Amino acid sequence: MTRRTDLHTHSTASDGTDSPAELVAHAAAAGLDVVAITDHDTTGGWAEAAAALPAGLALVRGMELSCTSAGGLTVHLLGYLVDPDARALADERDRLQGERRSRLRAMAERMAADGYPVDPDEVMASATGSAGRPHLAAALIRGGVVANTDEAFADLLRDGGPYYVDKADTPLADGVRLVRESGGVPVLAHALARPSDGRNLTLDEIAALVPAGLAGLEVDHPEHAEPEREQLRALAAEHDLLVTGSSDYHGDRKVNRLGQCTTADEQLERLLALGHGVPLLTGGA
Ligand code: AMP
Ligand code: FE
Ligand code: FE
Ligand code: ZN
Repeated sequence: MTRRTDLHTHSTASDGTDSPAELVAHAAAAGLDVVAITDHDTTGGWAEAAAALPAGLALVRGMELSCTSAGGLTVHLLGYLVDPDARALADERDRLQGERRSRLRAMAERMAADGYPVDPDEVMASATGSAGRPHLAAALIRGGVVANTDEAFADLLRDGGPYYVDKADTPLADGVRLVRESGGVPVLAHALARPSDGRNLTLDEIAALVPAGLAGLEVDHPEHAEPEREQLRALAAEHDLLVTGSSDYHGDRKVNRLGQCTTADEQLERLLALGHGVPLLTGGA
């Protein structure tokens, strides 16, 4: 049997618009056999997704850790099957949550001070899980300032933009080690996607993460064109890394559709064999 597997999705536990229960229902309706929930810097959606898992759908529990490269780039690292109670990783998630909240409030306050129709308290209250710029974008849409999230990110909210406030993310190699030490499988997310801050990691910088324990590369992703996929596939082959394909679904907030990109069965099997923080869950079991 060939399973349809999508290993990267977001819920309202971070900046997606589906609740975790809606996410797994939509995944089943989209014809997926396996879905991963990978909210930014949190495992907060896992319990609801697991409780609502439809029969016949399997759930890979993961997260997407916000990291910073040695060169100062923002890099996203997927951590699959981590033990959510592993102390060092739990502490780092708490720290990142704090960074997210203080930076988003600072951005909202700057915009309010300049006369934009955003209420910092309302923005913060709207972020029930990991707070992110999409929550501020939603306030700008409600206030009629922009038509959609893309337009908000095109100027006002972009990296280095007029209201941008930085946050202190996890040093990338530390993130790779943290995920491994928590029993998880670290996979570099959308490494060659159109960067919001000017440039991407080089292939050498990616290869340098292998000794730290990097296990895989997200190759098939809606924001990778074929040349990027080819480069990453070659790099994965060279270093015996596993290769994933995923949609990076965010509900209504992005055009990415569930199952838009998928992961091959043998790659999923490799991933499941490497991860031992928590098991794969099967709905209806
Ligand atoms: P933050 O996590 O606060 O740094 O905000 C970055 C998040 O915003 C990323 O996780 C993306 O999912 C989301 N994002 C960035 N650009 C866009 C866009 N043009 N449309 C929708 N979401 C976006
Ligand atoms: Fe996101
Ligand atoms: Fe990402
Ligand atoms: Zn993502």
